[in-house]
Amino acid sequence: MTRALALFSGGLDSILACRVVAAQGITVQAVKFVTPFFGYELLAKEQEYAQMVRESYGIEVVLRDVSEPYFTLLRNPPHGYGKNFNPCIDCKILLLRAAKMLMPEFSASFLITGEVIGQRPMSQRRDTLRVIERDSGCDGILLRPLCAKTQEPTFAERDGLVDRELLLDFNGRGRQPQIQLAERFGIKDYPRPAGGCVLTEPDQAKRIAWYYSRYSKVRLNDIRLLLFGRHFQLPHGGWLVLGRDEAENVRLEALHDPGDFLVHMPERSGPMGVLHSEHPDDFAAAAGLVVRFGKKTVGESAAAAVLFASGGEEQYLTAEPLADELFQGWGL
Ligand code: SF4
Repeated sequence: MTRALALFSGGLDSILACRVVAAQGITVQAVKFVTPFFGYELLAKEQEYAQMVRESYGIEVVLRDVSEPYFTLLRNPPHGYGKNFNPCIDCKILLLRAAKMLMPEFSASFLITGEVIGQRPMSQRRDTLRVIERDSGCDGILLRPLCAKTQEPTFAERDGLVDRELLLDFNGRGRQPQIQLAERFGIKDYPRPAGGCVLTEPDQAKRIAWYYSRYSKVRLNDIRLLLFGRHFQLPHGGWLVLGRDEAENVRLEALHDPGDFLVHMPERSGPMGVLHSEHPDDFAAAAGLVVRFGKKTVGESAAAAVLFASGGEEQYLTAEPLADELFQGWGL
């Protein structure tokens, strides 16, 4: 039996690509690659996700975490960034390389993606699609079922594993052909296009780019911290993250690394914080911010004791709420 491995984003195009090939009697295994920038939360509920994809779309999917190579790639992507901090071309190359390495595990004869020529400005132009398959080492083994008829035949078509006549010739940005095809397959609920990758979201992307410009070693938990909470760059180079509600406080506490300072007011409600800094003035600023964003007091001193804890050591600082005009421009 012929088997194929599909790069699965979870979007409609990747769903359809799997179904078009599976409709020819080929066993399609989908793999969804995740990093903290896209899809990471699924790792905590992989079985549930796989079941949802199976029941909704009739596709078998597994997750694979590619965070570490991705962090390295993001520092200096050979094909550059898109509008924000998104290295789309190199991202696709990395994911295809990772998929190619998985082919023996799944006994796959070829790879599938849901790319459609001309659909996205940078990464799906004809010449870019060529670059992606060449630089990922996937020349000839990468089938794009939704636009295969606009491309040179791949090995799977030439060898008769796939009937090229039953593949498609979609191109351009229109979504109508995909919507009609989804109807033919009886697929009703599917994710809207776009979304899902924080590297394309301007505010998040700016913050991640800031982190890369400051830190030479990228840590998984730091990246995860960057994606929620309130962030400040303190005057002496420190980085402070504050939770905005109880759920974020709990996440911050779980994600802080032993070398970070966990900051909070033990005797008053308020934010949990994670501080990266060794400068005493940054500690004072962080304490003032923790009090500023903590619960307001009525009829008593606004000052509060703030606890800094790291690696089993603790120290207290008493601080007044930091005046708003003092931290204008510190936000990340
Ligand atoms: S939007 Fe994000 S996940 Fe998608 S190709 Fe670009 S960098 Fe990769």
